[in-house]
Amino acid sequence: MPKNRSPIWHPFTQHALQDEMTRVVRGNGAYLHTADGRRIIDAISSRWVVTHGHCHPRIVRAIQEQAGKLNQIIFAGHTHDPAEEVAAQLLKFAPPGLEHVFFSDSGSASVEVALKMALGYWHNIGEQRVSIVVMQHSYHGDTIGGMSVGARGVFNEAYGPLLFDVTSVPFPVRGHEQDTLDALELACRNEIPAAFIVEPLILGAGGMLMYPAWVLKEMKRICEASSVLFIADEVMTGWGRTGTLFACEQANITPDIVCYSKGITGGALPLAVTLCRADIFDAHYSRDRTRTFFHSSSYTANPVACAAARANLELWQDPNTRQRVAAIAAMQEKAIEPFRADARFESVRQTGTIAALDLKTSDAGYLADIGPKLQAFFNKRNLLLRPLGNTIYVMPPYCATEADLDEIYAGIWNAADALAERGALRVEK
Ligand code: PMP
Repeated sequence: MPKNRSPIWHPFTQHALQDEMTRVVRGNGAYLHTADGRRIIDAISSRWVVTHGHCHPRIVRAIQEQAGKLNQIIFAGHTHDPAEEVAAQLLKFAPPGLEHVFFSDSGSASVEVALKMALGYWHNIGEQRVSIVVMQHSYHGDTIGGMSVGARGVFNEAYGPLLFDVTSVPFPVRGHEQDTLDALELACRNEIPAAFIVEPLILGAGGMLMYPAWVLKEMKRICEASSVLFIADEVMTGWGRTGTLFACEQANITPDIVCYSKGITGGALPLAVTLCRADIFDAHYSRDRTRTFFHSSSYTANPVACAAARANLELWQDPNTRQRVAAIAAMQEKAIEPFRADARFESVRQTGTIAALDLKTSDAGYLADIGPKLQAFFNKRNLLLRPLGNTIYVMPPYCATEADLDEIYAGIWNAADALAERGALRVEK
């Protein structure tokens, strides 16, 4: 064990391999400033959360004001303006038909809440439905419930057996979408599951795998036909990432339960919500306490986080925000164009503000060295990019400029050059 190191245990980091951490002292717009005087472009919005850029003045001001007024209150039996206003505004923005908002503090927690809402619903109306249908390659968080409905592999091998009776349907690979729909239909019919949980339009941590809106719409239709609750995990796809405020808009569907987090505070503070239809809320109504939704955490609807979310929602009322999203989507389209014809990449794809490029590396997958190697390469070039194995993805804050994107994609081009030089790519001669 190396000496003189920080006592901090970092997430998703193998400490035998990574000793040095990049020490960041300041964030501003699309940039991070390090203790050693570097300016880094945050090409992944600090794990997909910093939508409007670091330290957006409007959000900072909202946090400062709220922090001096009321910074924490037990949310059972109490309420406050920031939470009430966020809930009311969210219901205006969310797909029609969602009527209730439950607050929590991380994407994983919002998924736990969604699963508990679904199971609680069936329990309370007296139907025995306890299994969950999931999609292959999904990611829904690192809590045990979230892991249980996510892809199984090296990430959760140590923690088994996991929860729920889970059936997985294949990812809708282009040209084979019907296989997914058939498998979902079969699972819904034969297993009478409680719910189907899915990341709409893009499976994020599973490799930025994209599928079209019509498949999402069909999946919703199939669930509806069997009364299987449809849970949309929009933790990553929400807040403009797919080009619309929420991904479900593109399929014109209203999920029964939906999870939002990450960009809900513009990435300034941890907060999440789970929205549901009235009948799910109503199933938890009883004159005695037996049907109570037994879920809470100390910081539920923290007022300062809610004030940040309120400022974020105000930003989304400004047409300029949607224009920035459209501008980023257009810039991404232009930036990836030269890579589409490049033999060093096997798949170059985009949905809204998210672009992903798969390098033709000889090794792939999470345990392959390629991911951390690329990350180190980009770090040396002052770019924050954290490839998922051989998948490099770019998800910038909406304030990023064309020059920032030029720098990011020049870095990716250089990385491909360096790998090709070392013979680490499978490129046909
Ligand atoms: N669901 C999805 C789709 C996610 O992308 C993530 C985070 N990457 C989560 C859930 C978990 O969110 P958090 O990290 O805030 O717990």
